[in-house]
Amino acid sequence: MTEQTPDQVHDVVIVGSGPAGYTAAVYMARANLNPIVLTGSVTAGGELMNTTDVENFPGFPEGIMGPDLMMNMEQQARRFGADIRHEDATELILDRPIKQITTGAGEVLHSRAVVLATGSAYRELGVPGEKELSGHGVSWCATCDGFFFREQNIAVVGGGDSAMEEALFLTKFASQVTVLHRREELRASQIMVDRAKANEKITFVWNTEVTEVQGEGKVSRLILRDTVTGEPSALDVTGLFVAIGHDPRTALFKDQLTLTADGTAWVDGRSSRTSLPGVFAAGDVLDPTYRQAITAAGSGCVAALDVEHWLADNVPTDAAEVPSETTLNSPVPL
Ligand SMILES: Cc1cc2nc3c(=O)[nH]c(=O)nc-3n(C[C@H](O)[C@H](O)[C@H](O)COP(=O)(O)OP(=O)(O)OC[C@H]3O[C@@H](n4cnc5c(N)ncnc54)[C@H](O)[C@@H]3O)c2cc1C
Repeated sequence: MTEQTPDQVHDVVIVGSGPAGYTAAVYMARANLNPIVLTGSVTAGGELMNTTDVENFPGFPEGIMGPDLMMNMEQQARRFGADIRHEDATELILDRPIKQITTGAGEVLHSRAVVLATGSAYRELGVPGEKELSGHGVSWCATCDGFFFREQNIAVVGGGDSAMEEALFLTKFASQVTVLHRREELRASQIMVDRAKANEKITFVWNTEVTEVQGEGKVSRLILRDTVTGEPSALDVTGLFVAIGHDPRTALFKDQLTLTADGTAWVDGRSSRTSLPGVFAAGDVLDPTYRQAITAAGSGCVAALDVEHWLADNVPTDAAEVPSETTLNSPVPL
């Protein structure tokens, strides 16, 4: 490993390049904080790179393709001087005034502040056709995509509260919503179950799992299996909503920071301040509830403003800590 000599301390390193990371980068670059953005080596741009039309991000009356939106955000951050690197963060040491961020290339960056904007992964079924038809009938977000399924027959997989919420929301658009659940009973709270069962557009199919998603360029059929008898069957639908949970991407730092019961990064009230000084979180990694591009972007803005204030309050003035001639982004002893 080619460890960087600790001769440069950056103001801030952002880990993640979804709407949260890039928005934080735009704000911080415009505040002359020279942010470094580690985008992820193969997942730069985040979740919206995996989708087609985004119709609910303000400012685009005709909608915009997910990858185009993320490319725009990257360009906007670059325009103001953000240092965007298509690399992973592979190790973080966060519990000290000068944090260490190791990149996939083996470089060790030193920074006063770190923004964690690593997002949250929707759980996938892991069946043939699911990935291929993502954005073409397979979705993980009813709020985002429900509108595209007016007067259609669609299915929701899952048995928890979020699956019931998705199914209920989708009845505003779809003509028929079939909830597929692996067991005989739902995990969802009774009130959500009662609401879903009372809705005449929703039907339940119990003890059933999806084994394949089929369709030529667009979902047309699900192949199912009875989890008790093993019997296969087919269901003709034009949409499949996968609502089996999500996992905040905290593996890199979960042993160093406080997490919430939902597994998201804990932050102090409406701020982005985590349990460690100088460490901030933004976007879906801290959000168990909303998980939208615009809420993630707003959260990135919050993090940028918090970092700016925190750095202003924590510029070392103590001669014992930093030699008097050093300033931010210049050599300091560690
Ligand atoms: C298929 C799909 C369609 C969607 N459609 C819509 C929609 O139409 N409208 C809407 O508002 N929302 C939509 N969403 C939700 C939206 O994408 C998310 O809410 C939003 O992207 C969250 O932004 P984020 O910045 O928090 O995280 P993400 O977009 O998940 O980005 C996380 C970033 O962290 C990076 N990262 C993770 N680990 C590391 C590491 N170790 N080192 C470096 N980088 C790392 C990843 O590379 C990625 O860049 C959709 C989601 C999906 C999955």
